Parts: sequence; structure tokens; C-alpha cells
Amino acid sequence: MSETTIFRKIIDREIPADIVYEDDLCLAFNDINPQSPTHVLLIPKKEIPTVNELVEEDQTLMGHLLLVAGKLAGQLGLDGGYRLVINCGRDGGQEVDHIHIHILGGRGMSWPPG
Ligand code: 5GP
Repeated sequence: MSETTIFRKIIDREIPADIVYEDDLCLAFNDINPQSPTHVLLIPKKEIPTVNELVEEDQTLMGHLLLVAGKLAGQLGLDGGYRLVINCGRDGGQEVDHIHIHILGGRGMSWPPG
């Protein structure tokens, strides 16, 4: 899939975003339409459309993302807990075809999700 997503444009600084973290492998920025007081999107710089396109060589990258998510949650003050979400495909509610982890916090979460 070679279509340029909005997230690629954020990585390339073609469109603005409120960036809260960046390293060689990933970028994190505030969601434009937050669903909780803290709602950060954490994305790999590598373009992977969905979880279904992950390959073995992505294991370290995805592990890195989880480590960063945990550290970021601490830095964001989510001491009472938080939720990490990866939507996959249309039924999963995925709108942007560039893998991303939602870091949601700042309020109590209900279950099951909608
Ligand atoms: P998905 O539904 O694909 O799991 O999540 C996509 C998320 O990207 C949504 O929460 C949506 O609000 C967010 N989003 C879409 N476009 C932009 C944008 O241009 N900037 C930012 N910061 N977030 C965006």
C-alpha cells in the first residue's frame, strides 16, 4: 500500500501536529479529536498499514512502541492507569491506514468498548 496517509504527512512535517515524543523509530502526538483528557497517538515511522501487514522483522519495532507507550504514560502523569488501543481494519474502527497505538487516559474507562 503506497497511499500517503495523514500520519506520513505528520512525520514529514507537511502538516502540523502537537508532538509529545519522537525518536528514530516512532513519533507521538496528541489526537486531533481526543476521546479522553489525554489521548496520544503513537506511530512507527515505518509505514505499516494495519496489524495484518506486520512481518517478523517488525517484532522489535512493535516491542519498542510498547516500551515507549509505557514511558510516555508515566511522563503524561497517567499514574492511575490508562488504555492502549490498536484498531485494525474497518470493523475494528481503524480510519487511518498507518499502524498507531492510542494512549487514552485521564478518566476511568468502561468495558466493553463500543
Ligand atoms: P483510528 O480510528 O484509525 O484508530 O484512529 C485515527 C485517529 O487519528 C483518530 O482518533 C483521529 O481523531 C486521529 N486523527 C485523524 N486525523 C488526524 C490529524 O490530522 N491530526 C491528528 N493529530 N490526529 C488525527
